[in-house]
Amino acid sequence: MEQRQFLLGQKDIPRQWYNIVADLGEAPPPPLHPGTKQPCGPQDLAPIFPMSLIEQEVSAQRYIDIPEEVLDILALWRPTPLYRAIRLEKALGTPAKIFYKYEGTSPVGSHKPNTAVAQAYYNKQAGVKRLATETGAGQWGSALSMACNFFGMECTVYMVKVSYFQKPYRKSLMQTFGATIYPSPSEKTQFGRKILEQSPDSPGSLGIAISEALEDTVTSQNVKYALGSVLNHVMLHQTIIGQEAKKQMEMAGAYPDVVIGCVGGGSNFAGLAFPFLQDKFAGKNVRALAVEPASCASLTKGKYDYDFGDTAMMTPLLKMHSLGSGFIPPGIHAGGLRYHGMAPLVSFLKDRGQVDAVAYEQLPCFDAALTFAHSEGIIPAPESSHAIRAAIDEALKAKAEGKEKTILFNLSGNGMLDLSAYEDYLAGKLQ
Ligand SMILES: *Cc1c(COP(=O)(O)O)cnc(C)c1O
Repeated sequence: MEQRQFLLGQKDIPRQWYNIVADLGEAPPPPLHPGTKQPCGPQDLAPIFPMSLIEQEVSAQRYIDIPEEVLDILALWRPTPLYRAIRLEKALGTPAKIFYKYEGTSPVGSHKPNTAVAQAYYNKQAGVKRLATETGAGQWGSALSMACNFFGMECTVYMVKVSYFQKPYRKSLMQTFGATIYPSPSEKTQFGRKILEQSPDSPGSLGIAISEALEDTVTSQNVKYALGSVLNHVMLHQTIIGQEAKKQMEMAGAYPDVVIGCVGGGSNFAGLAFPFLQDKFAGKNVRALAVEPASCASLTKGKYDYDFGDTAMMTPLLKMHSLGSGFIPPGIHAGGLRYHGMAPLVSFLKDRGQVDAVAYEQLPCFDAALTFAHSEGIIPAPESSHAIRAAIDEALKAKAEGKEKTILFNLSGNGMLDLSAYEDYLAGKLQ
């Protein structure tokens, strides 16, 4: 029996987050104030985030300690397993070795709690009573609802309307943790009402939902905002994934030639890839590949320039690959990838040629998800199926070239609450 599982114990949970900014050799372009177009100071962000998270957002310190209270909760499911996909390798007939880090073992089924728990903790420390946020497919909303529940805080979630109806069980999951959910655009905010007036049938978008959550935040007392991706502190919190994976690859006696993750805002990709990029900056030969949906291809098609993070143009301007803050992506099932922009850090690395990107249509990704499920038994989240598609294509390329190759991808979540997407796929209803 060949070794498939590479498991760590509770003592192996990383004690620090890795901040890639320390190893970039130059400061990445700062966020700009939307009015003055000058770099944002900490005070500009203070109405929406607690100071501890703002400090992490602008930090250039290489390692940042993870608070004990956060580790205590992460230990409910971390370290996550790393597997070698031997049955998938055989099914493809490839000489490549395929490994995957499985983040779907968290209580809500994705990597998102890694940052949700940290963000809830720092807000609790700052005396915040309620967090407001947006969610697409509901993965982020579920993670933050769970985290707020752990720290005794209220949680309000603006859920992109198309997903609210596509994924009703994620809504129930959030409600079980005590959160309040509104389909966005909603009647709850001025901005939501404005959108509904202009287009009553608006499917919503992450950009619109972010605007609603921000409006709720700045018009309420003792409420802060939490974002599940894109920002530097979110990338930071996710780096426990890659730090664990490096130890696990060592246990496997292997090192990846290519590290792959799907990208919506960039956080699960960054979480896995940044600790390997640290090795790359030190001279190691490793390629980082970000995979996005062709229908919302910010990294491969978007412009690298300053843009707003939301539709109402309330956020600071971020230098990122973007399709424009007014872009409403089509209702593909990988709801977590339907964001117009990309993390500034991932964008910066892409611009410097240190991150590669590829875009895939939805159907070949579902084909890959089924190939994966048939051999490894796990139903992947539709978002993660993009990473699987790229991993399979890398493995098939190795086969065609008769070359050995080690591939590592992030299985960012399971698809057990996305079965309606599989139903549509199996019924031939997806284009
Ligand atoms: C949210 C989500 C994504 C996309 O977000 P990133 O910040 O790019 O990681 C990918 N996979 C899953 C399972 C998600 O829930």
